[in-house]
Amino acid sequence: MEQVTESINEISTDYLIVGAGAMGLAFADTLLTENKTAQFVIVDKRAMPGGHWVDAYPFVTLHQPAAAYGVNSSKLGSGGADLSSHAELMFYFERVMQKLLASGRVTFLPLCECNAFADDEVIVHSVVDSDLNYRISIAQRLVDATYMKVQVPASHPPKYSVSDAYTLVPPNGLIRQQRSWGRYTIIGAGKTGIDAILFLLDSGVSPDKIQWVISNDMWLWNRANVQIHNVVDELVRHIKTVKASGSTNEIFETLEKLGSVFRLNPTIRPTKWRCATVAPDEFAQLKQVRDQVRLGRVNEIRDGEIILSDGRIPIDSDTLIVDCSANGLEQRASLPIFNDKRITLQSVFMCQQVFSAAIIGKLESMDMSDAKRNQMWKVVPHPERVEDYPESMVQTFENLINGNKYKPWWLRRCRLNIMSHMSLFPYVVGSLRSAIAARGARKSLSRLESS
Ligand SMILES: Cc1cc2nc3c(=O)[nH]c(=O)nc-3n(C[C@H](O)[C@H](O)[C@H](O)COP(=O)(O)OP(=O)(O)OC[C@H]3O[C@@H](n4cnc5c(N)ncnc54)[C@H](O)[C@@H]3O)c2cc1C
Repeated sequence: MEQVTESINEISTDYLIVGAGAMGLAFADTLLTENKTAQFVIVDKRAMPGGHWVDAYPFVTLHQPAAAYGVNSSKLGSGGADLSSHAELMFYFERVMQKLLASGRVTFLPLCECNAFADDEVIVHSVVDSDLNYRISIAQRLVDATYMKVQVPASHPPKYSVSDAYTLVPPNGLIRQQRSWGRYTIIGAGKTGIDAILFLLDSGVSPDKIQWVISNDMWLWNRANVQIHNVVDELVRHIKTVKASGSTNEIFETLEKLGSVFRLNPTIRPTKWRCATVAPDEFAQLKQVRDQVRLGRVNEIRDGEIILSDGRIPIDSDTLIVDCSANGLEQRASLPIFNDKRITLQSVFMCQQVFSAAIIGKLESMDMSDAKRNQMWKVVPHPERVEDYPESMVQTFENLINGNKYKPWWLRRCRLNIMSHMSLFPYVVGSLRSAIAARGARKSLSRLESS
C-alpha cells in the first residue's frame, strides 16, 4: 500500500473504475442499469470523460456506425450509417457522465490518477494539486478501464527525433495552419494517417504535394460492408473464407476479391490487420497519393533527410510533417477479465471495445462464478498482424454463439450490438446463419497454423 502523508479524503465504494473512456463508461452504464444498488467511483487523469477522444483531432469521426457506439442506455447519432463527429462524441460523453451522476450512485473524480492498483483500497492523487489525495475503499472490485492503452498523436509524441529546422505537428495541428506548405509529409499509415490525408485532400491540397510514409501496409476493411443491413452477410463471408482457406494470405486475397478488404498497392502483401475501416470513395481518394515511401520506420529527421530503418529520403524545410505514428490500440497480452477482486476490461468481440465493456458489465451483474464468466465470453485481443485475424474471428463467433445461448434477449436489445438494429426476423435468421457458418471453424485454425 502506498504511504501518503498529506491530508486525505476517505471514500468507500462498491466499484472503483479507473478510466472514464468509452469502455469504462460503457461498463458503468450497463452495471448501473443491471444492479440497482451498487455505488461507483470513476477516476480519470483527464479533465473530462471520453478518454482518447478528448485529445483526438477535431476532424476525427467514428469509423463504425454511431448507432452501435457509446453506452447501452443512451443513443448516439442519427442511425444507419451515421458516423459521429468529434464534437458530437464530446457532447455525448458529457451527457453520459451527467446521467451517471444523476443516478446518485456515481462519483466522478476527473484530473485524478491511480498509479498503484490494489484490490481493497487504493490511493488516488489529484494531478493538479499534489496535496489532494483520496483513499478509496473498494467493497466489490477494482475495474481497470485503462488496459487497452489507447494512444493518439496529440498525447503521445513521436518516437523519432526531429531537428528544430523542421515543423512537425500532430494531426490536430492541421486545422491551425495559416500558410501553404510546399509539401505535406504524413508519417503513419494507420487510421490516423488516413484521416490526415483525407483532411488535406478535402481541403483542396493537391495529392501531388502529399508524401506518405508507410512503414507497414495494412489491409483496410470496406466500411460499406460493415453496416447494419449487411453486417451479418459480411461476418458470414469472413468466417466461411477462414474455413475454406489454406493460409492467412489466401484468406485476405479471397476477401479482397469479394470486395471486403482493400490494399493500397496490389503488388504488396500487407502484414497488418487492425480493423482500420475506409469507405470505397475514401479509398479512391487515398490512391491519388502516389508518393508512398516504404523504407521502414522513421528514426530521425535532420540535415535535409528523413532517416528510416531501411533508407533515407530528402526533405526540405518547406515541408509540414504530420506525425500519425501513435499506435492507436496496441496488442496487449490477454488477462483473465474477472480475477478475484479485479476486472480488466478487454475486447470479447473483434474490434468492438464498447460492446465488449457492456457485455462485461452484464456478466458482472449475473450470479455465477468468475470461471464461468471468463469462459462464457473469452478475450479477443486486438488484432495487429494478419496472422492474428483468424483466431480473432473464430473466437468472436464462438463468443457470439455462447452469448446467444445464455443471454439472447439481452444481446437482442443491446444497442451496442450492431446486429440488434435489424428487425426481429432477419436478426433471428442472421444469428442462425452465423452459428451454422461458424461450425468447424476452430478446426480450420489448426490447418492454418500448420500451413
Ligand atoms: C482514432 C480512433 C478511432 C476509433 N474509432 C472507433 C469506432 O468508430 N468504433 C469503435 O468501436 N471503436 C473505435 N475505436 C476504438 C476505441 O479505442 C474504443 O472504441 C474506445 O474508445 C477505447 O476506449 P477505452 O476506454 O478503452 O480507452 P481510452 O479512451 O484510452 O480511455 C482510458 C482512460 O483511462 C485514463 N487513464 C489511463 N491511465 C490512468 C490512470 N493511471 N489513472 C487514471 N486514469 C487513467 C485515460 O486518461 C483515459 O481517459 C477508435 C480508436 C481510435 C484511436
